[in-house]
Amino acid sequence: MKRITPSQFSAFNECKLKAILQSNKVNTLLPPHPSAHLGTVIHKIFEKSSSGEITGDDDFKTDWDSYIQEEEIQMSLSWMEKHFVPLEKSVQNYEVKKQQCLLSMRNMIPSQLPHSEITGNFHTTKSEEVWLQTPDGKVGGYADAIMYTDAGDVIVDYKTGSIIESENNSSEPIVHENIQLQLKLYAALYNSMNAKWPVSLKIVGMNGDFYDIQFDEDECSDLLFEAGQILKEINSTITNTSGSYELMLNRLASPSPQGCRFCSYRPGCLPYWEQRDVEQEIDWPYDVKGIVVDKKRLGNGLVLITIMPDGQSNAIKVRVLHPNRHPVLDNSYDKVSIFSMIADNVPDNYKEGLFTTIYSMS
Ligand code: SF4
Repeated sequence: MKRITPSQFSAFNECKLKAILQSNKVNTLLPPHPSAHLGTVIHKIFEKSSSGEITGDDDFKTDWDSYIQEEEIQMSLSWMEKHFVPLEKSVQNYEVKKQQCLLSMRNMIPSQLPHSEITGNFHTTKSEEVWLQTPDGKVGGYADAIMYTDAGDVIVDYKTGSIIESENNSSEPIVHENIQLQLKLYAALYNSMNAKWPVSLKIVGMNGDFYDIQFDEDECSDLLFEAGQILKEINSTITNTSGSYELMLNRLASPSPQGCRFCSYRPGCLPYWEQRDVEQEIDWPYDVKGIVVDKKRLGNGLVLITIMPDGQSNAIKVRVLHPNRHPVLDNSYDKVSIFSMIADNVPDNYKEGLFTTIYSMS
């Protein structure tokens, strides 16, 4: 690992193995949620609006259509994701999100609103996509924007996903902790490069709302130190040649039902499968691997397979499998692993869901 970025910092605290795979851009083995593609489009629109490259609704429409098309072409080329095209159908509230993005875009056009809502009525200039790093480059990343105001510098980050904790007993909205940590690390990086602290940290959401992240300079410096230590620990685990490859994976991985449920590396993660065997009674994702004992193509063209899961005595049935979604069903295979199934009403019966993915195993 060469570097740890502020956006990955929380991920390293959850499961180092997953964070390492993500930061090295290792191909995922399960499909991402289609709304992640919409998030990419919205983020690109935010960047362009904020830098003044989008100057009105017509530009917005052209760019929106073109970015959506780019994402959909990329998805169509993936056997795991092609059924999510078009995004208009697969992303919930697509039209609402598009309208929210349009409203945010209007607020971001520099000639129309010189950021006075964000910065107060101060004179501002702004830089986009500002690289911030420690002197040794071991912690670093791009802040979406920095505004230079008479009162001091403001670090701004645009978020296209959820910003606020949904379970919150306080009357004030609380920004997700991982987002707070990310912004605090930007503050510390900013200080490490410029020998001064920003005056504030702001998150701007899809609907144009913005949230202040309160920060304490010592806390930010401690987080930066912690990020450097995590990087050191990881590299020492990876380069330690005294143990086996499996031991190294086990040291880096933190398998848990909550963490692994949203991890796209489950199919290739040995510690995940091992932990499932150890703690069989807890609520793991509906995944299975085992010998295929029967396979039937039904009258409606869908496939039903019966599997004897590894280490178990009860066979399970998986139905409603669309052969065009699962290339492996066209081949001959003895052993498969199936991920993200949906439990049926009958015990040991499952069916295909939108995220169900099948691999053959040797
Ligand atoms: S499957 Fe679980 S343990 Fe494995 S990398 Fe993903 S989150 Fe970590």
